[in-house]
Amino acid sequence: MKFKEQRELVVKYCNKMISTGLTRGTGGNISIFVRDENLVVISPSGIDYETMTAEDVVVIDLDGNVVDGTNRPSSEYHLHTVFYKQRDDIDSVVHAHPIYASTLSVLGMEIPSAYYLNAVCGGPNVRCAKYALNGTEELAENVFEAMRDRFVVLMANHGLVAGAKDVANAFNKAEEIELSAEVYYKAKLLGEPNIISDEGVQEMLVAFKKYSQVTVK
Ligand code: 13P
Ligand code: ZN
Repeated sequence: MKFKEQRELVVKYCNKMISTGLTRGTGGNISIFVRDENLVVISPSGIDYETMTAEDVVVIDLDGNVVDGTNRPSSEYHLHTVFYKQRDDIDSVVHAHPIYASTLSVLGMEIPSAYYLNAVCGGPNVRCAKYALNGTEELAENVFEAMRDRFVVLMANHGLVAGAKDVANAFNKAEEIELSAEVYYKAKLLGEPNIISDEGVQEMLVAFKKYSQVTVK
């Protein structure tokens, strides 16, 4: 089986999306880019994560053609390949439907730096990409544009996308931004959240480089 290790990682993190509540049902998708072969290892479309095996995971080229595997690739493959084609600081993409990030996306809101871990997005705010139909190149382009200089973005009326050099970091960013969205949402119910200054966020980005085993990029 081609790219067994990456396929197993896709299965592991898809299951983790369910166990951590980052997504429900068959929502969301995960990919890993094998940059030296220009190929993408991506979750199949509409599959039950609990029964998904490494063989079910699909290998595609950057145009979405299946190179290895029997399933149809994720319908959102544009959302993944758009980054691999144009950014060399992203080799894994996680797309999920977490409840708080999705709630803010329905309101077209961005997530400001109220909670400190918001800075894992790479700047002072997680922007919200303009709405487009799911599975389209237009959606991928809107998401790409809103994610410039960032590693996480909300998708209007839909969910969240996170990217990083590896799947552990991309997943970690998705989880932390969902926590940030939850804290911001709840704080908003009680009052007007205090926002960390842009300078404070920049200091944090430097500090994060020395924090934990997961390199925050
Ligand atoms: P796929 O099952 O095709 O990956 O689609 C799920 C999804 O989240 C669509 O936006
Ligand atoms: Zn989705």
